[in-house]
Amino acid sequence: MVQTANRNKAESALGELLSGNKRYQQGALQKCVFNQQAFISGKSGQAPPAIVLSCSDSRVPPEMVLDQGLGDIFVIRVAGNVLDNNVLASMLYALTHLGSRLVIVMGHSKCGACNAAQGAYIQSQSGGGQSKGVDPVSQLLAPIIDTCGHLARNAGNTGGDLKNSIPVEAIVEQNSIATATSVFQALQQNLSGNEILGEIVVAAGKYDLDDGTVKVLKRWPAKAPRSALQKNLPKLVLLGVGAIVIGVKAFKSIR
Ligand SMILES: [Zn+2]
Repeated sequence: MVQTANRNKAESALGELLSGNKRYQQGALQKCVFNQQAFISGKSGQAPPAIVLSCSDSRVPPEMVLDQGLGDIFVIRVAGNVLDNNVLASMLYALTHLGSRLVIVMGHSKCGACNAAQGAYIQSQSGGGQSKGVDPVSQLLAPIIDTCGHLARNAGNTGGDLKNSIPVEAIVEQNSIATATSVFQALQQNLSGNEILGEIVVAAGKYDLDDGTVKVLKRWPAKAPRSALQKNLPKLVLLGVGAIVIGVKAFKSIR
């Protein structure tokens, strides 16, 4: 991605989602309510700045936990928030036709899909047969089971007490990051040469069922670009301090 591109829309969308999550934590939803104006403007089209890929878990509705209303977010939900061609095609549609610029993958604590993947991986490692079958559930879990394997190898554990070395919460976080990494790579391939590629921010996040917080685990590009004011703030402060020192000295010299 081009680092100098304008990602203001994506950055402000991310800020808005995190602000919405703060309102949710405080029990002060503002946007996740029926809004007549949004309903009427929705008749003539949509322009959601953000795409949210989340798990289908009934406890994690993105519109509610991020306090967003009609037309605000383009939501794709699938158990385990994994990426496949249908999910990618939906993202590409929103990016190229609706003007979305932020893609956030939102995993969540205590995820049943991650729990099932952990079980399937442990079973495969304990001689219980293959971890990946051809049935629909196994196919859905396959990328999460791969993540379990990476985590187990990183923990230096290919046997023993796997349940402790790859806890579900670690799988949840790594799965969100792995999915977002795949999204980032797929967008680079599919939008190669398209100028909007430089305007997109991809983020991996996690919703915590215990306290209702959404935190960003990783993002591409890594950090929001600093504004000209932020960049020059240290110089301006130094100049200001210098001016005060000179002023005080001049004041003392004329006394
Ligand atoms: Zn889940």
